[in-house]
Amino acid sequence: MEILHDSDWKWQINHALRTPEQFAAFFHWGEDQLQKIGETAEIYPMLATPFYVSLAKSNDMDDPIVAQCVANPRELEAGGEDDPLGEEASSPLPRLVHRYPDRALFLTCNVCAVHCRHCMRKRLWKTPLGAPSDEELAQAVEYLKQNPQVREVLISGGDPLLLDDMHVKRILDAFQKVPSLEMLRIGTRTLVALPQRFTPELCSIFENCQKTIWIATHFNHHQELSHEAALAVRRLMAAGVSVVNQSVLLKGINDSAEILGKLFTGLLSIRIKPYYLFHGDPIQGTTCFRTGLEAGLAIMEQLRNNISGMAVPTFAFDLPKGGGKVRLEPDFSAGKNCFRRFDGGTEEYK
Ligand SMILES: *Cc1c(COP(=O)(O)O)cnc(C)c1O
Ligand code: SF4
Repeated sequence: MEILHDSDWKWQINHALRTPEQFAAFFHWGEDQLQKIGETAEIYPMLATPFYVSLAKSNDMDDPIVAQCVANPRELEAGGEDDPLGEEASSPLPRLVHRYPDRALFLTCNVCAVHCRHCMRKRLWKTPLGAPSDEELAQAVEYLKQNPQVREVLISGGDPLLLDDMHVKRILDAFQKVPSLEMLRIGTRTLVALPQRFTPELCSIFENCQKTIWIATHFNHHQELSHEAALAVRRLMAAGVSVVNQSVLLKGINDSAEILGKLFTGLLSIRIKPYYLFHGDPIQGTTCFRTGLEAGLAIMEQLRNNISGMAVPTFAFDLPKGGGKVRLEPDFSAGKNCFRRFDGGTEEYK
């Protein structure tokens, strides 16, 4: 019976796997495995849509889908901080983070379609944050009107598209009242874990919005590139919405040029532009996924010239204490006026 409704996004949410027992039943794990994940899940709860877990190709902890949504005892390793980015320090209002002059970040809710084990906001999973009230929206609008240098609002969370259409429309309507805003960037992982969310109704809300909308999504592995996601992007593009992708470099999941090359070219082929590849921040509960900057740079160097230049994202990380993003490039210099060739060797250039 269930299969009749699985194309409905609310069905996906209502049937999301939330307990270690549900994951163990889905993946046919025994008592041993259940115990292994249970302790970690008590601290960092698990959550995934049936659609997301169905993308797994095996029930092995190394499967890129399993590794991203199933609690791993290594998350409890010491190290990292709660809020190394200092987001809470650059908040003029409880839901607004304003660090860079022309962009501000608005937090809509803290529910998601999947609890990504590497999430930098996992400290907030247990703190309920519902949709913004009319008053909170009015305050954000007022702040933005007083700060007309802000051209772009990043609508983030959690995942803003876990809110229903009525709330999404309320939020977009509120920001449309700010004349100085040029565009809205919606950060969402629903394209990966809940592509059913992009209904004709939601797409028409986007199409009718006065401001330019971009979606920033979060694919980390080519196994996540589904037919459903490709269809959703087509619908979004028809509604005038463009899509970029922000990946996180994840040890043991996507930290090779081969995997990321497949992901980035695969994204381009479904019309998504790879935008950032982030190195993992030192956040409590996620340090086991960090690779080190050198590993990231080595991968970037291998990708350069081997895949379409359009497929190559910017490698970046966030400095602690609100120091902002740093973008890194492999070093191609080989002495004064001398550079490394793509095929080895060096070449002079003046
Ligand atoms: C990352 C980030 C942005 C957006 O930066 P872009 O380089 O434009 O993607 C904006 N505000 C904050 C606080 C951020 O961390
Ligand atoms: S969807 Fe985004 S905010 Fe939600 S758990 Fe995953 S990384 Fe974190």
